[in-house]
Amino acid sequence: MRIDVVSLFPEFVAQCAAFGVVGRAVERGLLSIHGTNPRDFAEGNYRRVDDRPFGGGPGMVMLIEPLRRALDAARRAGEGPSRVVYMSPQGRRLDQAGVRRLAAEPRLIVLCGRYEGVDERLIRAEVDEEVSIGDYVLSGGELPAAVLVDAIARLQDGVLNDTESAQQDSFEDGLLDCPHYTRPVEHDLGRVPDVLLSGDHARIARWRRMQSLGRTAARRPDLLDGRELSKADRELLQA
Ligand code: SAM
Repeated sequence: MRIDVVSLFPEFVAQCAAFGVVGRAVERGLLSIHGTNPRDFAEGNYRRVDDRPFGGGPGMVMLIEPLRRALDAARRAGEGPSRVVYMSPQGRRLDQAGVRRLAAEPRLIVLCGRYEGVDERLIRAEVDEEVSIGDYVLSGGELPAAVLVDAIARLQDGVLNDTESAQQDSFEDGLLDCPHYTRPVEHDLGRVPDVLLSGDHARIARWRRMQSLGRTAARRPDLLDGRELSKADRELLQA
């Protein structure tokens, strides 16, 4: 998969390609991340990328033309059509299902705003969807873009090792993940639950499922709203 990030600070997002799972995805050739800076497409000595908002008020607005040229350049840099995503607090809130959908695209262009945001006409003409990472406002789209890139990278086939499989992560099956423990068995902070030491895989799977259901009910009951639980899950939840 190829992701082009259009940003005034493209190095910011490229940094996340240097580490951990995203780094591995890039190293293995499963993901490539490219930056395009709208300033490189701005005119005049000052290479201006923003201007004052019509109607007055505080802040600046990103100009259409440098962004449009940067998006065109990003489009031309790869092959095939590309979905354009604008990181915006006004977008649809990102969840694991949304990440899965975007991770299945062959190409993405991720547009990062700054200042008060982007001229609305560019959004209407060039953007396929707006994506928010939560109901709070950051000063730029680069951190949100890095969040999206990371979440997408770990879903690319061949990126995660078996032991890190995304299948058991929170939200994958609509529930929160179960708790995890590692050595030592005994610690002054507590003992590892006996069931995990039993070697009885069926019992362990049942316990994990029960923990997932219980945690989800306690911490995120909204995830269970409208969900039809199986008889076995209902029994585990009540156990
Ligand atoms: N005036 C805008 C508003 O209230 O909707 C906020 C602009 S914000 C200061 C600048 C840029 O940061 C946005 O254009 C967007 O790219 C990015 N941004 C800020 N918060 C975000 C969020 N929660 N999710 C995704 N992008 C965000």
